[in-house]
Amino acid sequence: MQNKKRISDVIEFIPFSGIRKFFDIVNEMTDVISLSIGEPDFQTPENIRDAAIESIRAGKTKYTANVGLIEMRKAVSEHVKKRHGLEYDPKKQIVMTIGGSEGVDVSLRAIINPGDEVLVIEPCYVSYRPCIMMAGGVPVTIRTKPENDFRLQPEELRASITDKTKALLLNYPTNPTGAIMERGDLAKIVPILTEHGVIVITDEIYGDLTYGGRTHVSIAEFPGMYENTILINGFSKAYSMTGWRLAYVCGPEDIMRAYAKIHQYVVMSAPTVSQYAGIEALHNCDGSVETMRGEYDKRRKIMLDGFRRIGMDCFEPLGAFYMFPSIKKSSLSSEEFCSKLLFEAKVAVVPGVAFGECGEGFIRCSYAYSIDNIETALGRMGEFLRKLG
Ligand code: PMP
Repeated sequence: MQNKKRISDVIEFIPFSGIRKFFDIVNEMTDVISLSIGEPDFQTPENIRDAAIESIRAGKTKYTANVGLIEMRKAVSEHVKKRHGLEYDPKKQIVMTIGGSEGVDVSLRAIINPGDEVLVIEPCYVSYRPCIMMAGGVPVTIRTKPENDFRLQPEELRASITDKTKALLLNYPTNPTGAIMERGDLAKIVPILTEHGVIVITDEIYGDLTYGGRTHVSIAEFPGMYENTILINGFSKAYSMTGWRLAYVCGPEDIMRAYAKIHQYVVMSAPTVSQYAGIEALHNCDGSVETMRGEYDKRRKIMLDGFRRIGMDCFEPLGAFYMFPSIKKSSLSSEEFCSKLLFEAKVAVVPGVAFGECGEGFIRCSYAYSIDNIETALGRMGEFLRKLG
């Protein structure tokens, strides 16, 4: 037999996630305080768990419609209408997905032809570039900066658009920086996107987690954008439901038809039990979301004050549950800094470079951890920086 290459070129080229690599080391160590994972530490609210158990007891254990239970899609439609004033037809414009992760992957595959360029705003979530490449697209990076609060600047967007630009992947509030884009910021980029017919895939998984009196605005709310926007949101973060693997995608009818085609063949349907849980979440959990958001806000302030006290420069994040302080004073690379911090001070954080080259010089710290954890980590980090000089 000929010695054929067994692995696809694209897949061979894509690296494993920098977060996971690091986390595997952490898992083998003892007495480590971790601020490394983007997962809420709260239990899923009890009424959601009860609704799920009840659905299993009632024997609701079969596939649902490919695009999800109609009651679930109706609940999503009402929820998005209430939040953003947007009307999505539950029968034709909403698909229930296996997390926002599926939402990003399948949205890209539904619209990308080989060689199409997709703009990614870095530092960004680790799956974006690989998903663009797996869809046959070409990622084009726009670098954001702390001096602009990591918000996308209109002139930078304009300079990155070519005649091959098909889409922009937007993620505000942002993982890993905690940046947000307010109505005024979005208003400046919308005319550029509509002028060039750029499709926006907006990953709003942290949309319910904003602070400092800000509320999240979706780009789909702007005139001319609804027709050109694929909106992804889900349950993992705001409802603390990471393990339930449930999210939703809403968009224009033609794109959602294409989306449903891929979803039907590769997913079949989102987990049935999770959809019953999701209905309860959207109907009866505004209070729980608000309580968790309040807790994150407290932790956010403690962590930000702590960083400033120990001499780390950090811009104030107004969304999600991450901070992205600078480590440039240390003159170490972000990977060196994180390894040293892990082995010498037993604190795990993620190197900024895991989120794109412009993340070099930063580390990502999650405050989805208890105040005790955060304070102990800050103490250890302060000591570490003192020794580092
Ligand atoms: N998008 C972003 C920006 C994320 O941070 C995450 C999870 N860390 C996801 C999507 C995936 O979330 P899900 O659990 O819904 O797949």
